[in-house]
Parts: sequence; C-alpha cells; structure tokens
Amino acid sequence: MDFSAYDEVRQQKLQELSNIQNYVRCSTCYMEYLTTYLGDEPGSYCNQCGRCRTANFPSVRPARRIQGAAALFLEEEFLPHIEKRPEHEAGWSLSYHGNSHTGRLVRASKYEDAGPFALSLVNRTVQLIRTRYPLATIDGIVSVPPTKSGLLVESFARQIAALLDVEYLTVLEKVRITQEQKYLTNWRQKVDNVKEAFCISSPQVVAGRTLLLIDDIYDSGYMLREVGHTLLQAGAKLVYPLTITRTAHSDDQ
Ligand SMILES: [Zn+2]
Repeated sequence: MDFSAYDEVRQQKLQELSNIQNYVRCSTCYMEYLTTYLGDEPGSYCNQCGRCRTANFPSVRPARRIQGAAALFLEEEFLPHIEKRPEHEAGWSLSYHGNSHTGRLVRASKYEDAGPFALSLVNRTVQLIRTRYPLATIDGIVSVPPTKSGLLVESFARQIAALLDVEYLTVLEKVRITQEQKYLTNWRQKVDNVKEAFCISSPQVVAGRTLLLIDDIYDSGYMLREVGHTLLQAGAKLVYPLTITRTAHSDDQ
C-alpha cells in the first residue's frame, strides 16, 4: 500500500498547526504576523492589537463562583452534539475528550489500567439518555466492539442497559482487526480503517428494533456511521448514537 498521499496530508496539517502556534506566541504584533504570512514585507506594526497596546487588553479574572458556573456549564450542559447521518439519528457525547474531568476518567480506564469506566460516568450517561433520548422507543442497547481485546465499553453499556431496564444485545462482531481511529491522522485513513469491519451475528435479533449504540470516544464519526450502517443493513429500525467523550478536532464530514 502506498502511504505517500497520507504523509503529505499529515505534513501539511502539522505545518498549519505550527503556524497557528507561532501566531499565538508571536511577541511583536499580531497583525504583522498575519500580513507577513500573507506576503507583505515584515516590519509594519498595527498599533492596535493586543501586542502593540497591551494596556487596552487587560487580563480579566472572573470571580471563582463564575469560573465554577462556567466549568459546570461546559461539563454538564454544553454537551457535544452528534449530527444525524444517513446511518444513524442525532445523539450526544457526555463531554469533550480533551481536558475535561470526564476525558480524564475515560483515559484512565482506557490507557492507564484504572479498571472499568467510573460509576459517575454510568450515572451521568443514564441521566443523559433519560433527558435527551426517546427512551420509550428504544428497545435494545448495543456497543461498538473493541479495537483490541477487553470489555470496557461492553460492560459500560451493559450497566446502562440494566439501569434503564433495556435489553443489551450481543450481536455486533468484528470481521477484521482495526486500529484506534484517534491515531489515524486524516479522514481517508479513518474511513478505510472501519469500512466493512463489522457484522451482525444474528440479524433476526436486531430486525425492527430501535437501538442505542454506545461507544467510548467519538473521533471522526466514521466508526459510528459504519456500525450504524451495519445495523440498518441487518434490519434495525433506527440507531441512536451515544459516546462518553468526543475529540475536539474538526474532520467530521
Ligand atoms: Zn499590532
């Protein structure tokens, strides 16, 4: 397989990232950085920006109470939305993956051997389903099979199924090995990684059912779309996706 096209995209993205970082760190004039980047001669300062006139941009420290309210809003209320696709309905993630408390809990279980996903995540997920999903119509819960071995997501989904009194269906299987989506650097690789990677062991079990599909991390969305597609092909009526976290980059298309 020829990976040179992937490498080229990767190099270009890294260069873009480095330019953005340099902009943030630039010590002379923000506007000069931009105009130079776009081809002007360096050395003309704007006398307006946060570098040229630091006095005009005092750093503001909101009260602790306001910081707390903002953090809670970002964590609990401002849930990342999963867009409706041909392969699944709309859904939500509990939190962004990055620096949130939820993200740290997920990483601890997934990469640092901290055991099953925290009970607080189970409870918040149940709450999320009760408040935002059409729970009365959902008559089966399924989970995305793991990249490596392990039952992390499955046992999480089983706990939720038990608490909601909805049947957990052991029907999704992998037909080949996949890599973790977050380690792949562009959408082409992500699509190829999951394409036709799943099958349904007993299609009669999902036929006609409205399913809740659970995974731990929403990366590009291709995983949920592929699994959703597999479930619909097997006769499922509707598929509602839910993930614990969502990575915050923008190659979701
Ligand atoms: Zn300036």
